[in-house]
Amino acid sequence: MIQVTHLGFPRIGARRELKQALESFWKGQTTSTDLHATARELRARHWQLARNAGVDVVPCNDFSLYDHVLDTAVLFDAIPPSHRDVFEPDPLAGYFALARGLQDDQHDLHALEMTKWFDSNYHYLVPKFQVDQTFRLRGDKPLAELREARALGLEARPVLLGPVSFLKLGKREDGGCPLELLDALLPAYVHLLEQWKAEGASWVQIDEPCLVLDLGDADRDAYRRAFAALAAADIPQILLATYFGDLGDNLELVAALPVDALHIDLARAPQQLSRVLEAWPAEQSLSLGVVDGRNVWRTDLDAALALVHTAGSRVRWLAPSCSLLHVPIDLELERKLPQPLRGGMAFARQKLEELRLLADAHAGDAAAAAAVASAQAARTAHRNAPELGNATVRARLAGLLPAMSQRTTPYPQRARLQHERLALPPLPTTTIGSFPQLSLVRKARADHKAGKLDDAGYRMFLEREIDNCLREQEAIGLDVLVHGEFERNDMVEYFGEQLDGFAFTSHGWVQSYGSRCVKPPVLYGDVSRPRAMTVEWTRYAQSRTQYPVKGMLTGPVTILQWSFVRDDQPRADTCRQIALALRDEVLELEAAGIAIIQIDEPALREGLPLRREDWPRYLAWAVEAFGLAAGAVADTTQIHTHMCYAEFNDIIDAVAALDADVISIETSRSRMELLDAFARFRYPNGIGPGVYDIHAPRVPSPTEIGELLGKALQVIPAAQLWVNPDCGLKTRGWPEVRKALSAMVQATRELRLGL
Ligand code: GLN
Ligand code: ZN
Repeated sequence: MIQVTHLGFPRIGARRELKQALESFWKGQTTSTDLHATARELRARHWQLARNAGVDVVPCNDFSLYDHVLDTAVLFDAIPPSHRDVFEPDPLAGYFALARGLQDDQHDLHALEMTKWFDSNYHYLVPKFQVDQTFRLRGDKPLAELREARALGLEARPVLLGPVSFLKLGKREDGGCPLELLDALLPAYVHLLEQWKAEGASWVQIDEPCLVLDLGDADRDAYRRAFAALAAADIPQILLATYFGDLGDNLELVAALPVDALHIDLARAPQQLSRVLEAWPAEQSLSLGVVDGRNVWRTDLDAALALVHTAGSRVRWLAPSCSLLHVPIDLELERKLPQPLRGGMAFARQKLEELRLLADAHAGDAAAAAAVASAQAARTAHRNAPELGNATVRARLAGLLPAMSQRTTPYPQRARLQHERLALPPLPTTTIGSFPQLSLVRKARADHKAGKLDDAGYRMFLEREIDNCLREQEAIGLDVLVHGEFERNDMVEYFGEQLDGFAFTSHGWVQSYGSRCVKPPVLYGDVSRPRAMTVEWTRYAQSRTQYPVKGMLTGPVTILQWSFVRDDQPRADTCRQIALALRDEVLELEAAGIAIIQIDEPALREGLPLRREDWPRYLAWAVEAFGLAAGAVADTTQIHTHMCYAEFNDIIDAVAALDADVISIETSRSRMELLDAFARFRYPNGIGPGVYDIHAPRVPSPTEIGELLGKALQVIPAAQLWVNPDCGLKTRGWPEVRKALSAMVQATRELRLGL
């Protein structure tokens, strides 16, 4: 009998219970006992939900209070010396100090660097290893969670990030290769696996997502050594989980690893099944990831059944392609989604039910076969719905010319014209766009949405907020101002709500990092712009100050990347449709007298395919889409872009090809390391390296910012340099923002004197 399982579940809760529990704990309103109680309740609820959906084996230890990579680092004691003295008396305080930094009377600790989890919009904390890093087991989370699941009468399979992926996702303090630490790490892994076995676990799931990446000899060698060491110990059977892509040229390596079962992603890479069946030893079993764990659409159950039939008796488990972390929990909570769209969708719970259906239908159950047929009918009804198409948009797309996605005048000439128009001081200071959003702002937005606050009242409220924000920025002494983005709940949702082709969920939250969640729009149809989206607010702001106000848009790739996107046409085409809508918005802003327009593309890099051979194609259409949005403006209009948490070394050509007049990037957590890529490339356009980390409440000093800017000036000519924080400020509070931005302005002014 094929069993149904899954690889991991969203931790945040259908109503973001974990978020609330974390944030009230951080504010000191609740105790760690309260926090742990909520966590335990969520685990129990999610296990129960899976069991009710027909799951035979649930994972455990997939839960995390903040991030599973941080959990792994802490579990194996990879704690930087700087944070140790917080850990020793209070491990939970230490854990959160690593996650968020810690600033009090006795401490001034940075958070760990944060970066995207493969090509998803989930962020993990980058483990930081010492040169002489040692590892040992710390705490009993992995065992406690196993006991917890078993106490509920569940068959549970512990999950652990594999040793090679864990090391590869981290960084060594001295810049050396983390894989050199493998031999030091393996005994701790063995120790944990032995403990799990002693506790009665018959299987463990070891996640090695790095197996779908391009690997070098050192990586392959590490895999062989790691799994040989595990196999030699008395541990549970290993389910080696791979996901997010095709094993490709790593298949041979994987097939030779001494593990007992292999999970493969057949949603992203159904084509790999036949190759895997050939290469994978017949006596070892398979877990087929036939339901997409990264999207919200119903599975094509007929196609999935065909895969299951092909694999036949080799299949031990059916599962989602990857952890369900990346999808919302329950479509049942969605009452407002229109049909037939809703009928074509599935969230975590529905995906588990699909798996149950598939397993039963495969086993010959007639009721399941009938249910498959009706599910397929709902899927078809959605996919054939007339509201997916828009003839005007299609015609416009067919008429695209290459010249439309480029600025015609070269940058140096544009820069001169823009300088004449804007007359900014050297090292111009600005922000990334959003300013603190107090609960009052969120309340006004919600009241307006709910009809409790009329349009005029809402506009008055926003105008007041904008005025306030402008006065604050003027007082701080910034050179290029923004309106503050108070009308936006989220940089993608806001645009999605105004564009045709998008739908919105009420509870479709997915974790972005820690307690932060996003509610990705559902991009289901052709995209068009019925009316201007930002012009009103930007124009108002510009009318209220003598300083230039920067218009603020989210770029086409980011809108695509942070939405749940239709899968019935190439992503490139969907992206071009968004770009054309933005192009019209850009021109309308320009016509309204806005001289600087920022098109944020923080997700450009995360959209990169995991395999290098697929990069050029992606980058070509991503750059084209940005160009389509930005390319139509006059030379005197300055286009900015912003990217956060990106590593630029390998995409610097494409970033340069965007030809934005100014780019702002994250650099503060990595202490300006990121700038090297730009310096080496002799990146010609304006660049604003983030001078402080806005993801933590820590306030930087002018000296600290001055030092970072000094570092930047060593590699970037002053004429190109802009000064800004590393991202938007909407999650911060006004007092810290005032202090931090003032420090930034002060540091800049001091530096200007020396230029
Ligand atoms: N303009 C956006 C803001 O300031 C950019 C956010 C982002 O890069 N994620 O909020
Ligand atoms: Zn950002």
